[in-house]
Amino acid sequence: MKPAVVAPERIRAGQPCRKCATPVVQKTPRHHQRKPGQCYYYEYYLYCPNYRTLYMLDEAKRPYS
Ligand SMILES: [Zn+2]
Repeated sequence: MKPAVVAPERIRAGQPCRKCATPVVQKTPRHHQRKPGQCYYYEYYLYCPNYRTLYMLDEAKRPYS
């Protein structure tokens, strides 16, 4: 399972990771794999290449149509 955190505050690509200060990069998921009961997906997310932390942003949340 990949580690993932919901960013409590806004963080942008190129800004330092909260845990290790490595600049995070923006990634776009290739597939939106819908899970049962899930009514939204993330259009993009931020990724820390150091500890592989994922930052899931509310502003990248998109509802399934
Ligand atoms: Zn980090």
